[in-house]
Amino acid sequence: MSDKTQLLVIGGGPGGYTAAFRAADLGLAVTLVERDPALGGVCLNVGCIPSKALLHVAEVVQGAEDAYQFGLTYAQPKQDLAKMRKWKDGIVSTLTGGLAGLAKKRKVTRVQGTARFEGPNRVRIEKGKKHETLEFEQAVIAVGSEPTALPGMAYGGRIMDSTAALALDDIPKRLLIVGGGIIGLEMAAIYHALGSEITVVELGGQLLPGVDTDLVKVLEGVIKQRYAGIHLNTQVSELTPRAKQVHAKFSGGKPQTFDRALIAVGRRPNGAMIDAQAAGVAVDEQGFIAVDEQQRTNQRHIFAIGDVVGQPMLAHKAVHEGRVAAEVASGKKSGFEARVIPSVAYTQPEVAWVGLTETDAKQRGIAYETGVFPWAASGRSLSQGEGRGITKLLFDPNTEQLLGAGICGAQAGELIAEATLAIEMQTSAHDLGLTIHPHPTLAETLGLAAEVFAGTATDLYAPKRKK
Ligand code: FAD
Repeated sequence: MSDKTQLLVIGGGPGGYTAAFRAADLGLAVTLVERDPALGGVCLNVGCIPSKALLHVAEVVQGAEDAYQFGLTYAQPKQDLAKMRKWKDGIVSTLTGGLAGLAKKRKVTRVQGTARFEGPNRVRIEKGKKHETLEFEQAVIAVGSEPTALPGMAYGGRIMDSTAALALDDIPKRLLIVGGGIIGLEMAAIYHALGSEITVVELGGQLLPGVDTDLVKVLEGVIKQRYAGIHLNTQVSELTPRAKQVHAKFSGGKPQTFDRALIAVGRRPNGAMIDAQAAGVAVDEQGFIAVDEQQRTNQRHIFAIGDVVGQPMLAHKAVHEGRVAAEVASGKKSGFEARVIPSVAYTQPEVAWVGLTETDAKQRGIAYETGVFPWAASGRSLSQGEGRGITKLLFDPNTEQLLGAGICGAQAGELIAEATLAIEMQTSAHDLGLTIHPHPTLAETLGLAAEVFAGTATDLYAPKRKK
């Protein structure tokens, strides 16, 4: 059978379903092909959402433990893993079920199967032994990414990727986490709260590679006390699964035995898996597909969005790119013009950053000045039993415009939204400092950091700014 659609979207993750829904709203006849039965992609099914559900569990456990400091002690929580899994899976199915309903309401044609290009306007869609071909006028490639493997260390059994770790089969007594990036550290927080002894091994010289060191130091100070070991500048050279354990060898260290290992060393794009060359779409050696500001590939009628087009591999980036692709495909004047994309590590405490970082500024020789507000002076943070954290803002020394922000502390992921909007609106330190923030909140640390930069802070002693 061969059919024809105005817009074909390949992949039903955050990028793909957004593109499909927006294009349908703009009047195109849309077919959305997804190889899995549910929409939502990595983010909803095996990424953002299940990890945040389990991180909430971890936060409750940690919060109860930390309450001893203000006179509350609780017994060790009893764990019902089956109920926890059901609760997490329930959140996922509520959201993916919602997407199915939205697709139906918009009359988006859904096809389950794996799509590969057969020509510039044709794909073959395979499901089991069956296949069909579909002709399209325009297409959006939104096929996402998958976990990177380490050579000689195959996933399976006691060696987990993030999807297996989120399945929560059991709580290993000793868990090795290979990779100290966002996903590795979020999983560490979950398994630590559920009782695992955590060892993190990171090849680079710091956790969260690339993130400003002063932010990472705050997180590291907290988790160092919680975890059995954090080994930087260390390579895992061998992981050997046994019936009940995993044997690990490290560069320069003694071999150790763990009950499970999680490899979280990054994700690679799925661009090489769709026979893109049949449509003339260029895919680089890593599997990324280059696009312009309108999300067009080198073939004008084929767009690409989300993880498959490059870093940062984040759901909110995919969503925005999906909207742009749909609007351009519908004939609208649209483009990906966001100044900045925020990033969040939902660790405990959280680390969030947006726009220019100090690391970046130093590497690129960009002039900047900072305003830093330590949370030890935040009434809200202290009254939450914390006091650990910093809010750092980076300003242009001449225009005093906000260029970037980095926050480490509770709810940093929520707080970074204000800085993101402020950068988009080209806000100055003056505007931020004059904005009345509610007291006492963690959000006021943003206004206070701007005051520290301007030399007008009264909550701290900060020397007057030399111009
Ligand atoms: P995906 O979500 O990967 O979706 C691609 C879809 O395409 C998949 O459903 C796949 O089945 C389908 N597909 C692939 N090939 C084909 C084919 N040939 N035919 C048909 N269908 C195909 N991001 C955040 O912003 N915040 C977070 O908190 C966060 N947490 C994460 C936690 C974990 C554990 C992981 C693994 C990721 C996390 N991410 C997070 C990243 C986020 O999940 C991705 O950036 C996002 O899902 C990318 O969206 P996408 O639409 O590009 O691709």
